[in-house]
Amino acid sequence: MRVTVLGSGTSSGVPTIGCECETCRSSDPRDRRLRPSVLVETNETSIIIDTSSDFREQCLRFGIDRLDGVIYTHHHFDHIAGFDDLRAFNFVSKNSVPIYLMNETFAHLSRIFEYAFDPKKRKESSAPVVKPILIDDKSFSIGGVECTPIPLRHGSMRVNGYRIGGFAYCTDCNEITEEGYRRLEGIEYIILDGLRYRPHPTHMTIEKAIDTARKIGAKQTWLTHIAHDVQHRLVEKDLPHGINLAYDGLVINARSSRE
Ligand SMILES: [Zn+2]
Ligand SMILES: [Zn+2]
Ligand SMILES: [Zn+2]
Repeated sequence: MRVTVLGSGTSSGVPTIGCECETCRSSDPRDRRLRPSVLVETNETSIIIDTSSDFREQCLRFGIDRLDGVIYTHHHFDHIAGFDDLRAFNFVSKNSVPIYLMNETFAHLSRIFEYAFDPKKRKESSAPVVKPILIDDKSFSIGGVECTPIPLRHGSMRVNGYRIGGFAYCTDCNEITEEGYRRLEGIEYIILDGLRYRPHPTHMTIEKAIDTARKIGAKQTWLTHIAHDVQHRLVEKDLPHGINLAYDGLVINARSSRE
């Protein structure tokens, strides 16, 4: 199973519009971060987690031309904004795209992208055709790949991380729930929220992410949803062994849930 980081940036992306800071002016490609998303692929199945604000650019850059399903972590706009571009996958596959999401995420998605869900509005303009599949705390399968929700705290919100085989993706959280820790037992590779050093009400600081990573005990942790306060080269060298910053294009080879 192959995991590709499509975007490792925070909601505004890096560089940030109009900013002249060191990171935003950096020529290091690892300091150019699209909005957060990952692609999970096996030989037969291709799954994307979140349709970020940069979804179209990510599909073109990483040659994504088929999708067996989209899994949503939560409804914040940086994670859903690319939804309309799912149309392209309707054209290619001549089929609807299955989307897996919690009730609350669906409520917001269908409100924000009403034209895709309201049959009356559908006729007037082209809209993505999706097949919503509501998920709760139970594992589900996409093309034979088992995905397990990891309950996370994101400020006052409950959001989902996902465990797929030996890999887990836990972006957008400031706390992993007790049940979440249980579901992460024995994980080999994890991508974890690590926004910046300054505290934030809904995201982990790098310090908190390091503590959390140690508690989870994966073989390797990468931090994501990274703000422009964090310059890759400078921060990376101070991180403990087994913890690194993710970057766009990072590929992780993990055990799939089938083996
Ligand atoms: Zn986010
Ligand atoms: Zn900046
Ligand atoms: Zn969020």
